[in-house]
Amino acid sequence: MTTNEVDETPDTHLDGGCACGQTRYRLHRAPMFVHCCHCTRCQRETGVAFAHHALIEFTAMSVLSGEPQFVKVPTDSGTTHWVARCSGCLTALWNEWGSRKAITRYVRVGTFDEPNLFPPQAHIFVRSKQPWVTLSNDAPSFNAHYDSAKLWPKESLARYAAAKSAKSTKAAKSAL
Ligand SMILES: [Zn+2]
Ligand SMILES: [Zn+2]
Repeated sequence: MTTNEVDETPDTHLDGGCACGQTRYRLHRAPMFVHCCHCTRCQRETGVAFAHHALIEFTAMSVLSGEPQFVKVPTDSGTTHWVARCSGCLTALWNEWGSRKAITRYVRVGTFDEPNLFPPQAHIFVRSKQPWVTLSNDAPSFNAHYDSAKLWPKESLARYAAAKSAKSTKAAKSAL
């Protein structure tokens, strides 16, 4: 990725990285949305009670150091996604859904240098939530997924739409 593809907002530098320090990343904007997923797949994949993900446009995040390795993992919907792991310590840093270089990266909030900046804006798949997890009323809960069009802030929906159309324009160009 060249730097001119990065949608940079200079006053927003959100960095994170793995446990051994080899792989470091940077978000160039605040996440579009942050949610916790309590599905059984996320529980198994992370080994804890729920996954905590910050959603960011693919091009608004860059790797500062290290070369993450991508591990293909099956999803409940029958497709696969990719988990980016530090090639040194194998800490899982983010997911790319459906295909590599998807529109959105799901960054694991626990790997941010300041994870406290990103409390969840929603809880999903609470039908399989661990019974000892008590959720506050600060964020809405959903038995399965939510309708992004109804829940996400307008600005985030616009950002997602822009990222999606930029990707399809690029794909159309490369097909010519
Ligand atoms: Zn590492
Ligand atoms: Zn999940």
